[in-house]
Amino acid sequence: MMEVSEAVAAVLREASPFEPQAIPLMDALGLVLAEDVHADADSPPFDKSLVDGFAVRLADCVTPLPVIETVSAGQVPTRSLDHPAAIQIMTGAPLPVGAEAVVPVELTSEQTDANGIQQVSVPIKVASWKLSTNILRRGASTKRGDLVVAAGSELRPQELGALAEYGRSRVTVRRRPRVAVLATGDELVPVEQTPGPGQIRNSNETMLCAQLHRAGAEPVPLGIARDERAHLRERIDIGLQVDMLVLSGGVSMGEKDLVPAELASAGVRQVFHKANVKPGKPIWFGVLERAPNSRTLVFGLPGNPVSSLVCFELFVRPALRRMMGVFPAESVAVKARLTAPHATKGDRPTYQPARLEWRADGPIVTAIPWVGSSDLRATVAANSMALFPVGDQTYAAGNVVDVIAW
Ligand code: AMP
Ligand code: MG
Repeated sequence: MMEVSEAVAAVLREASPFEPQAIPLMDALGLVLAEDVHADADSPPFDKSLVDGFAVRLADCVTPLPVIETVSAGQVPTRSLDHPAAIQIMTGAPLPVGAEAVVPVELTSEQTDANGIQQVSVPIKVASWKLSTNILRRGASTKRGDLVVAAGSELRPQELGALAEYGRSRVTVRRRPRVAVLATGDELVPVEQTPGPGQIRNSNETMLCAQLHRAGAEPVPLGIARDERAHLRERIDIGLQVDMLVLSGGVSMGEKDLVPAELASAGVRQVFHKANVKPGKPIWFGVLERAPNSRTLVFGLPGNPVSSLVCFELFVRPALRRMMGVFPAESVAVKARLTAPHATKGDRPTYQPARLEWRADGPIVTAIPWVGSSDLRATVAANSMALFPVGDQTYAAGNVVDVIAW
């Protein structure tokens, strides 16, 4: 039986990054950029006003100044400040030639002279202001050709905005993996149905599809497969047509646990079956070569919902990261102090649903009480899993443990 670290390494050996391809910028949230993107222009592209006010030459502000033009954002000034005068200007508008500063409108007063010409007075002393006060000069934040977003960056809203600023309506990324989700079990009924005697609702499909979405993948829900060879095989064959197939249930030792055998008969090569982990020991992983450079990774997750949840985070998530080009692909654990004593009884390393919180003096973690790996409600209070190594042990409050945030 493999240790978790060996199993994750085995998964990552089989998962490879997708070839980069161009997609619309609007579809790229959460993906990893596969090219360096450089600025196609200076930013700002022209000297611009940072306030609503009056563009002036500093030394002119000792007397009332005629207002010779008004420039709004989107317009271009036609006059320049080559004599004592002011040009009214709005935030974001291009500065007239000759302007040394913009005096905010709230620091000025306006009047009309005897000839009906608008005049502005600057009652405060601006002669000692620094040149360019309230002006952002062309190229002050970015010069044409500067690196804006580097290859390997995850595209969050601010990266998407920056790419939009420089005109990248399409970007080169590694695409979203398409992942089929197949729940197996004769006892399962769809969520909207009231379970009859001996039946339960198929909670795993919703949960796994949500985990996939959050990981940046595109889930393809395939519904429920009965514990019956031909039917199961038919659903498996559909799921094997995309980048990954995630099954839940049917991988343990029961008579109706048909998943490993049906995967084998569909041509899926087993990489491992079982890992030294609690919950989730019966996990199954394999690969189908569909064509040269085209393969389907297959995970058979144990059916108990918390096992599925934990095994997804432990094994499936790193594979998705690798395919999408996220570095590192492995989950990174943080060290956190236990808020309360915790006793483990374990023949296997336990990944315990837990609540991780960030405090000024470092992260703290609280194990969530649960009655076992079907107790999905307990995980509603969890946002992570705390690792307790094998063995019977009592941890004191303050002991430091590894925690993987979800
Ligand atoms: P199995 O791995 O098929 O032996 O299932 C283990 C346990 O998980 C059983 O109690 C199942 O009823 C339960 N289970 C299996 N699949 C699901 C599912 N899709 N949603 C909720 N519970 C499930
Ligand atoms: Mg089952």
